[in-house]
Amino acid sequence: MRKVILTGDRPTGRLHVGHYVGSLKRRVELQNSGEYDDIYIMIADAQALTDNADNPEKVRQNIVEVALDYLACGIDPEKTTIFIQSMVPQLTELSFYYMNLVTVSRLQRNPTVKSEIQMRNFEASIPVGFFTYPISQAADITAFKATVVPVGEDQMPMIEQTREIVHKFNQVYGETLVEPQISLPDNKACLRLPGTDGKAKMSKSLGNCIYLADTEEEVRKKIMSMFTDPNHLRVEDPGEVEGNPVFIYLDAFCKDEHFAEFLPEYANLEELKAHYKRGGLGDVKVKKFLNNVMQSELSPIRERRKQWEKDIPAVYDILKKGSEIAEQTAARTLADVRNAMKIDYFSDGALIKEQIEKYK
Ligand code: ATP
Ligand code: MG
Repeated sequence: MRKVILTGDRPTGRLHVGHYVGSLKRRVELQNSGEYDDIYIMIADAQALTDNADNPEKVRQNIVEVALDYLACGIDPEKTTIFIQSMVPQLTELSFYYMNLVTVSRLQRNPTVKSEIQMRNFEASIPVGFFTYPISQAADITAFKATVVPVGEDQMPMIEQTREIVHKFNQVYGETLVEPQISLPDNKACLRLPGTDGKAKMSKSLGNCIYLADTEEEVRKKIMSMFTDPNHLRVEDPGEVEGNPVFIYLDAFCKDEHFAEFLPEYANLEELKAHYKRGGLGDVKVKKFLNNVMQSELSPIRERRKQWEKDIPAVYDILKKGSEIAEQTAARTLADVRNAMKIDYFSDGALIKEQIEKYK
């Protein structure tokens, strides 16, 4: 069986370091591993509209921002097909058929959608499109017959929902769709990177992000004013590293080499954590170190982004070509689906013959 990756992001803002460690970095590694036959990355504009119906301009503006972030991180359009969701109308048709295989109560149980509804204060006025976006995500994944979906932890319920739809579809209509596997980051700190404000998730909608496109100075300011252990008031106080976002970011970004380069009095993160826990290590020193670590990871990304920013028509060209390729693939799957469901009336010779016989 072909090894295929499908993943994507909502164009609701620029991408941040949570996306980077949670999914983007892994996509680049998988892309460069050469182990995959096809890799598709989707800019999910139609999904973004499910909770931004009144603000299509936001979605429109952010498509190119997300594309620039991809290219900046090392997504290579020669190896990866980058496309825009709404440019592939087959995805909408697939969603419509899949809707019949999922119950309302099953959708209501999705924990990620539940918490997103709460976060957006939708409660009594949930747009139907938003409520059903896990189904549209199943269409996106299955249209490309994806075997692997590299995403952050919050996407687990979506992949589960997709697997259920695939299972049900194949059971009812015969073996047609492929069940995908989720690919999560190995590093626990990267599963769900917290916000700079200490909230559980860095998220565009919460405004607690360090963006990949932030300048060196913006990154420094955000790190220096980050939330840490609120009980660590004086340098000599013992501090808490569990749940402390500064240390979680270090867990996510720091390597032993960074100590040799920026903080040689410690051999590794374990030593730094031990000092913080017993007291005598100030937050400013730790934050300055984190800043050095993150700048060294982010500065090549920032530079690559600047290069692509000079050639926006080339970026649109990549998206247009990618969308054309994606549409061809999705059309093939849709044909398989219609054939399996026996709703391909005009190419179904047996059906036509049957009707002729009936009226003889
Ligand atoms: P929105 O608030 O509009 O939903 P978002 O910041 O949650 O935006 P998405 O586009 O929904 O971003 O997510 C894109 C991908 O990034 C998904 O695979 C998701 O799991 C991952 N991701 C998002 N935020 C984080 C995070 N804080 N830590 C790790 N992974 C994340
Ligand atoms: Mg999200």
